[in-house]
Formats: sequence, structure tokens, C-alpha cells
Amino acid sequence: MNLSGKTAVVTGGSRGIGQGIVLKLAEAGAHVITNYNSTPPDTTKKLVEEKGGSLSAYQCNLTSTDSINEFVKAINNEVGQVDVLVNNAGITKDNLLVRMSEEEWDDVINVNLKAVFLLTKLIAKGMMKKRTGSIINITSVVGLTGNPGQSNYAATKAGIQGFTRSVAKELASRNVRANCVAPGYIITDMTGGLTEEAREKLTTLIPMQKLGSVQNIADTVIFLASDLSEYITGETINVNGGMYMN
Ligand code: NDP
Repeated sequence: MNLSGKTAVVTGGSRGIGQGIVLKLAEAGAHVITNYNSTPPDTTKKLVEEKGGSLSAYQCNLTSTDSINEFVKAINNEVGQVDVLVNNAGITKDNLLVRMSEEEWDDVINVNLKAVFLLTKLIAKGMMKKRTGSIINITSVVGLTGNPGQSNYAATKAGIQGFTRSVAKELASRNVRANCVAPGYIITDMTGGLTEEAREKLTTLIPMQKLGSVQNIADTVIFLASDLSEYITGETINVNGGMYMN
């Protein structure tokens, strides 16, 4: 996969799945731009540079429309054109429905769904003009299956899929593709809080009997970013060890 000369924007590249995606795209030759909320992604930058790649990072709190606008301004000043957008950043604020506060609902909607809309809208304009681009949205198996305690999170992840299919239909004639990757359970900070017992129980639900790796997701993203997937749009690729099949 050769992405030399291309620019990719990945949200949430400081750690976890986002970091893996940044590294993969940079390894393929793309210049990568990411955002950080509070801590600059120094480790990601060091790993990218060790592999001879280039990464720019800008502060952007995805809960703020102003901050997203500033982020896109900085991107446009630096590169002008974005070829690949990966909406990866996401949060959980779990609670049972009857105990879930409006704040827990709004926080998750704002980062996981509203920011995806705002950023995609701003970046897609340049892609449409140049008549090329690949938008990749990270959803979740939970958006397909539902999960007790995650009505807010599951709503955003299902929402991302409907959003992506609509965007794919709107942009297809301009040669801009939009797809989702739906991870199952992947070893990152987000799943790091699971007890050993919970992890073992979870593993029994996965036909491949193991949690996935960041690399598994990054490999799927780079396929969707590259021309190898040039005739695929509006699709959701499940990467979940067989946990859910559609
Ligand atoms: P992590 O919690 O490890 O990382 C989340 C990233 O999002 C961080 O870089 C974080 O930046 C960034 N982020 C969160 N909130 C904001 C904000 N307000 N503004 C800017 N950046 C923000 O998550 P994962 O790597 O585990 O998950 C990545 C994606 O994959 C998410 O969309 C998640 O829903 C999805 N996913 C993950 C699964 C898993 O098993 N891990 C399973 C299915 C889907 P900062 O460090 O600054 O907070």
C-alpha cells in the first residue's frame, strides 16, 4: 500500500486504535495530522519519526465546534488538501438507562457523533472539489448488537453507520468514498478497565476466542484508505473475531 504524497487526518491519535492507525498510514508514506485534547501525542510522533514518517499534531477538543473549526483551519493552512479522514476518537460514559444523566448522554453524543458530522462536513468539501477522498469512521460492534449500560455509546455507533451510508450516497458521484470499521473488543485503554474475570467471560463470546489488536483495526483502515478498496463505499467492515456477523 503506497500512500506517498497523500495526507491523512486521524482523530485521537495519541493512543490506542488511533495511534495504531496513525503509524500504519505513516508507514505507507502518508503525511498524517492528528489532534490532541490535553496531552500532545509525543509517543505517537516519536514512533512515526522512527519509521521515517511525518506527523503534525494540533490541539482540538472535539466537544467544541470552535475548536474543530480552528483544527480544520490549521489543516488547510498546512496542507490544503486532505485525502483520507479517519474519525477515530471516541469515549464511553456507561450507565444503565434509568441512571444515565443527560450529561453522560450529551458528552458521548458530542464526541462520538456530533464531532464526526462537523469534521466530515468541513473536510469533505475539499475532497469533493478535488474529486477524490476516503472517509473512514470507527464505529463498534455495540452499534449493531446493543449492550446493557451503553445506550448512549451504542446510539452514537449505530448513528455513525447511518451517517456514513448517507454521506457515501451523497459523495459517490464525486469519487469520495465513506466507510465504517466496526471493531469488536480490542486491547486498548478503553477495555483496559475490564477485570480478568470480565475479560475471560467476554472471550467465551468470541468464536476466535481472543480479543483483537490495534493492528487488526489499522490493517482494515489502510485497506479502506487505499485504492485497493476503490469500488467499496457505504460499507461497514466488522473486525471482531466472529463475535457478530451480518
Ligand atoms: P482510547 O480511549 O484508547 O483513545 C481515545 C482517543 O480519543 C484518545 O486519543 C483521546 O485523546 C481521543 N479523545 C477522546 N475525547 C476527546 C476529545 N474531547 N477531544 C479530542 N480527542 C478526544 O480509545 P480506543 O483506541 O479504544 O478507541 C478508538 C475508537 O475505537 C473509538 O471510537 C472507540 O469507540 C472505538 N472502539 C474501540 C473498541 C475497543 O475495544 N477499544 C471497540 C469498538 C470500538 P486524549 O488522549 O486527549 O483524551
